[in-house]
Amino acid sequence: MEYEAVIGLETHVQLRTRSKMWCGCANEFGADPNSNVCPVCLGLPGVLPVANDEALRLTVLTGLLLGCEIPRRAKFDRKNYFYPDVAKNYQITQYDQPSTRDGFLEFEFEDHLERVRITRAHLEEDVAKNFHFSRESGVDFNRAGVPLLEIVSEPEIRSAHMAHAYLNALVEVLVHGGISDCDMEKGMLRCDVNVSVRPRGTTTLGAKIEIKNMNTFSGVRRALDYEIPRQIAAVSRGEKLRQETRRWDDDAGITEPMRSKEHAHDYRYLPDPDLLPLEPSDAWLAEVRSRVIELPLARKQRFARDYGLPAGDAEVFKGNLTLGAFFEQAANGAKNPKAIGNWVINNLAAKLNESQSTLADLKFPPAALRELVELVESGKISTKIAQEVFGDMFTSGKSPTAIVEEKGLLQVSDTGALETFCDQAIAANPGPAQDFRTGKMAALNFLKGQVMKLSKGKANPSVVGDILERKLRA
Ligand code: ADP
Ligand code: MG
Ligand code: ZN
Repeated sequence: MEYEAVIGLETHVQLRTRSKMWCGCANEFGADPNSNVCPVCLGLPGVLPVANDEALRLTVLTGLLLGCEIPRRAKFDRKNYFYPDVAKNYQITQYDQPSTRDGFLEFEFEDHLERVRITRAHLEEDVAKNFHFSRESGVDFNRAGVPLLEIVSEPEIRSAHMAHAYLNALVEVLVHGGISDCDMEKGMLRCDVNVSVRPRGTTTLGAKIEIKNMNTFSGVRRALDYEIPRQIAAVSRGEKLRQETRRWDDDAGITEPMRSKEHAHDYRYLPDPDLLPLEPSDAWLAEVRSRVIELPLARKQRFARDYGLPAGDAEVFKGNLTLGAFFEQAANGAKNPKAIGNWVINNLAAKLNESQSTLADLKFPPAALRELVELVESGKISTKIAQEVFGDMFTSGKSPTAIVEEKGLLQVSDTGALETFCDQAIAANPGPAQDFRTGKMAALNFLKGQVMKLSKGKANPSVVGDILERKLRA
């Protein structure tokens, strides 16, 4: 029997806020242990949490970016458990009334568009971090109370490769949307991987194995590449898998049992009596809505559709917002936006890279690039000369028309002048001229090249071709 994998991801991201979720302590990575703490995030008795409004906004903004429904009422709950990473003995989270639900993430995967539904994105608090030394352990509370968004996918991911693509797409949305920096080295993004297997073609879900706290994408991929065959081998042997939580051992490259899976009722969820339910007003929602940006994938699709860019070019602009904005300004009203895209990517980006500068340092405006491309398109200068003009624009910031006039670079289409160059080229190269007459078409290109040289690159190549052919066939 053939089996298929069923994967659902729970992704935790730290929100990009200045302060923590319930207190004014800094949300900052890398400070000395227990230096960003106060009675609230240390869980001392008698203190009250005050919700960070920016964290609430970023949560709803994420929901909007992921096409979620935003319920008119949400609330916070206490998830009770005992472990040194929560001094209060509960973590504040959103249980049955999250701030967002029922959305989706769309991404390109193996030459098609995939859509994975998002169950919910809810707000909670991060917990402290335990450190184990040789003789004792320590707890750093700097991370305790940092706003944490949990984004839960439906079990619709089918492979390790697809999980990887999903995570990349999610990070792209979160980073571009200003939700989180998603710096995995700083622990800003962690994910729980849920995976089961079932006979292909069936719809009942198999027993779910949860691999906890993955903090690299390659780890997620490798854990799945190990876990999926392990489960398939087990069920193929007739074993019945039980729901459990496993740990990924990165060095050994295996998953191993951690505990049999806890259930929601073990946590004794209860509404947090210290926090009011969230009932966003229309004005507040409108303000958050105004922060919705065009997603990278949507921009890529729009660039391909509206400007006729090839997929590869549109892909470059997908990941580079400022270059894309420059392109759009340059392409505005242009006859051939595709050619402008090509210049932006192949010349401008390369030149910026080479000179280690950015668009902010650029000396010419986007419209100047449009002007340059139009000089080429209208046959006033050749592509080769255009390269030279571009180099000059880049260093001097002068307009392309001014440069062309100043240096006398206008392409020569005037047949009188070109006839003379052609006669000279034919006279100086009798061999190739004879070759052409006996049917070697390639010889024409050689002669054309000679004319281009004589004209210092200014001859209009297609006119030259016509003249040469006429003369040689005469
Ligand atoms: P829990 O309450 O244990 O957290 P949920 O039903 O909320 O479980 O699901 C958590 C995550 O596990 C979600 O991303 C969901 O898509 C995924 N998931 C649920 N059941 C399965 C399954 N049988 N196989 C794989 N993934 C699953
Ligand atoms: Mg869970
Ligand atoms: Zn604090």
